[in-house]
Amino acid sequence: MNTAVYTNPAADARAIALTAGEVVLDEFVEARGPWSAVVSAGDVLTIVDLEGNQAVDCLLYAAGDTSVRYSAAATIASQQSIVLTTGSVLRAETGAPLMTVVADEVGVHDTIGGACSQESNTLRYGQHTREQHACVENFLIEGSRWGLGKRDLVSNINWFMNVPVDPDGALGIVDGLSAPGKRVALRAELDTLVLVSNCPQINNPCNGFNPTPVRMIVTRPEAAL
Ligand SMILES: [Zn+2]
Repeated sequence: MNTAVYTNPAADARAIALTAGEVVLDEFVEARGPWSAVVSAGDVLTIVDLEGNQAVDCLLYAAGDTSVRYSAAATIASQQSIVLTTGSVLRAETGAPLMTVVADEVGVHDTIGGACSQESNTLRYGQHTREQHACVENFLIEGSRWGLGKRDLVSNINWFMNVPVDPDGALGIVDGLSAPGKRVALRAELDTLVLVSNCPQINNPCNGFNPTPVRMIVTRPEAAL
């Protein structure tokens, strides 16, 4: 794969998006930063892991009623699999579909590893990590723009993160399966608020110990125009 086309900021978003259509949004998320947008029903969000092995923590809410939000449990139970990939329907607690994974170049994304926080970092890695910026702080900062607070934060999706489960049930957070330029694409089934933390974690391999930017491209299929 020629990764230069993906990592070059000037590369044509239309060519990079996994689903053809008019480009209605093309934004970069800085390393360690938050991001959010409403993806309209029928539009497709392509997330590009520009430099590889970058965990993108993600929560979904119905834009019209943010009490309807992503449920890892409902999603896992419905598809009878703990990993997210092409065909996965990302559901609310009610079972209602919020988004569907329509294309995926990695094959395995996590939804059980959770989001890092200052508290969890301190517990896992020691007091010296308390002041490190973390995903929960990103979610709170960005979520406040939409009226969301800490009680709105639920178990999240970790795009591009590799969390294998051993036969004995043990979880690992290990080196990622992603690589520079790998993409995943999500179609909104209804107008969906996508809340993202481009994970700042540097104490485990989820970001290759080096957080990097990602790119968000939303396309609108031509038939919908
Ligand atoms: Zn994180």
